[in-house]
Amino acid sequence: MLQTILLIQDDPRAARTVIEALRHSHDANFDVEWVRRCSEGVERLTMEGKAGSAAIDAVVAEMNLSDSHGIATFDRLFHAAPQVPILVISASGDEEVARLAVKRGAQDYLPERHLDGCLLTKTVVTMIERAGIAEALYHEKELAQVTLNSIGDAVISTDHSGNVTYLNVVAERLTGWAVAEASGKSLQQVFRIIDAITRETAEDPMVLAMQENRTVALTPNCVLVRRDGTECAIEDSAAPIHDRRGQVVGAVMVFHDVSEARASSLRMSHLAQHDSLTDLPNRIMFNDRLNQAVALADRQQDRIAVLYMDLDRFKHTNDTLGHTIGDALLRAVADRLRDCVRTSDTVSRQGGDEFVVLLPHISDIQHADMIARKVLVAMRAPYTIEGHKLHFTVSMGIAIYPDDGMDVDTLLKNADLAMYQAKDSGRDNVQFYKSELNVRAVERQVIESGLRSALQRQEFVLHYQPRVSLQTGAIVGVEALVRWQRPQRGLVLPVEFMQVAEETGLIVPIGRWVLLEACRQARAWEEAGWPRVRIAVNISAVELRAFDFVASVRSALLKTGLKPEYLELELTEAFLMQDEKITDATLRALRDMGVRMTLDDFGTGYSSLSYVRRLPISCLKIDHSFVRSLGAADDADDASIVIAVINMGRSLHMGVVAEGVETAAQLDFLKNQGCPEAQGYYFGRPVAHGGIERLLDSNASEDARRIGTSQAASCFRTSSSTPMPR
Ligand code: C2E
Ligand code: MG
Ligand code: MG
Repeated sequence: MLQTILLIQDDPRAARTVIEALRHSHDANFDVEWVRRCSEGVERLTMEGKAGSAAIDAVVAEMNLSDSHGIATFDRLFHAAPQVPILVISASGDEEVARLAVKRGAQDYLPERHLDGCLLTKTVVTMIERAGIAEALYHEKELAQVTLNSIGDAVISTDHSGNVTYLNVVAERLTGWAVAEASGKSLQQVFRIIDAITRETAEDPMVLAMQENRTVALTPNCVLVRRDGTECAIEDSAAPIHDRRGQVVGAVMVFHDVSEARASSLRMSHLAQHDSLTDLPNRIMFNDRLNQAVALADRQQDRIAVLYMDLDRFKHTNDTLGHTIGDALLRAVADRLRDCVRTSDTVSRQGGDEFVVLLPHISDIQHADMIARKVLVAMRAPYTIEGHKLHFTVSMGIAIYPDDGMDVDTLLKNADLAMYQAKDSGRDNVQFYKSELNVRAVERQVIESGLRSALQRQEFVLHYQPRVSLQTGAIVGVEALVRWQRPQRGLVLPVEFMQVAEETGLIVPIGRWVLLEACRQARAWEEAGWPRVRIAVNISAVELRAFDFVASVRSALLKTGLKPEYLELELTEAFLMQDEKITDATLRALRDMGVRMTLDDFGTGYSSLSYVRRLPISCLKIDHSFVRSLGAADDADDASIVIAVINMGRSLHMGVVAEGVETAAQLDFLKNQGCPEAQGYYFGRPVAHGGIERLLDSNASEDARRIGTSQAASCFRTSSSTPMPR
């Protein structure tokens, strides 16, 4: 390959020597371009490659020229083309300049007086080869540099004694150290890492990588303390660097900032374990804590208490005041609960309005009782939420480990059972789990599965109880009451299964059957020529909530042909606790259909008079708990309530019926107060349909005598019942 040498030499004789030597070389094929002045040399070097001129492969230059002297000559040439190797020809006595030139980047120098052809060509050939290698190395280094700076990871390397040799730009940014400042400093100074939790200095992975000659990952939870003291979570690994013989000569570490990822994973795990509304631990975290507490309690022979609580009548507030207030209330409850316990205890929201408190170390059961009572008191204080002053109470059940259960599920289930017991005993109180509660739970399960098959096996029957007009003595209606004819057990009354039917929703299909059967029976009596009586059917709140309730009533009337005015639905006040809008719409649709509605068990609930007035209710049924004591010596309170309801019915043009009348004294009282209608064992117990027929048929005169209304007898059989006042 032809190589172009630029010779810069003032002296033509010396120039010729060089040209001759190079041209006749056997080692390479040289073309020599000769110039005499430095400026010409510079010009030639800078035009390299331009205007068809060949690239210069090497320069052979004399330092003392007509336009430039000494080291300045070298500097100008080197500056013009630093990549081109330069061989300095030093005049005798000028070797100082030549050596200086080598220090500044010249490849080599030869004294002019020793300019031997062979040595010259060999020197030039080696010089060109070395320049080629240097160029290749430079490219490689450049490539590595660009690569290291363009990856997103930080890279730091050290030598064998742990002093920093290199940082890429990401490492500079993350550590706050510029490579120039960091070079030569110990790694510990530039790269300070600590454990995020213990805050102690973390083990230096590079030292370990070198010691053990393997790739080492950073300890988890590692935090880099920057030069300015700020911190950033990092992650990654260190590896040893080897020389050609395989000896470890340093280490390199690659790491990256994981602050974002670590923060978001912390956020995620917090979310997964906490309730978003109250920020209390959720069910998952609670179970975890309870499991831990159980393990610890076993070792320390300790006891644990699980307090399960539910806000009394929360649903009503939520439905009437809206979910925003409901949510705010739950948050306020959460705050109060947190204040009632120690930080080592766990307060958790299980969902809805249910909260559970875990007391992991209780020396004795009294301690749990004390905390429970503290919570009850704290809850009773009024809450002010968005201008509403609200009063709330909680019902609470307690289960103790290991007495009431050995695992999380059993403890929670038993605390929950005890909580229901607290609700049953009038709410706003606390009950400890008793094992008989569990027996009851099993019974409930048996009832539930029995009810499921009872519908298919047609095990339900209806009994009927007469309702009598106190003015005429006539039977004006009958109430249909469901009974469960249970195989091998006999007749089961609603009190034994109604709650389970309501809680499981089974009351909906059962109620549909009752409604249809009652309408069918009423229509059958009518067709058989019995006096027309209104049939009353009890409807529980759960049934009324079913979206197709109105349609199911319409369908029962259509199927049986019963006129709507002969159907009366008895609703308890519980339905008023439901969503007001839905309740109103349902009741109005029923009224428009022509069906009548009675408020059953009136006086036991919480409905306000103003609300009742707005509803399309045509009759109030005084609960038998008020009727029971009428005529007795201590009846003052109950009697005044009964009188108030009778007067209220009169002024609101509503019907009033007293239920549970068992004695003549009760009847007299009611009659004297002008109560229009009554029902109770005194007139007749609930009986199967045949019994009612006999009653309608033969008991008329007897009833009339009891009531003291002589014309009552004529009302039976022959005429339709007296219309209810409205
Ligand atoms: P309720 O609607 O208030 O029915 C009156 C209850 O009092 C009936 O009990 C009845 O047998 C009883 N009773 C009637 N007269 C007297 C009396 O003079 N003295 C006493 N001590 N009790 C009397 P029963 O049949 O056990 O029904 C209890 C409750 O079950 C009913 O109370 C009603 O709320 C519910 N229920 C009954 N049948 C149905 C039904 O088909 N569907 C729905 N949803 N609930 C029903
Ligand atoms: Mg009833
Ligand atoms: Mg009742």
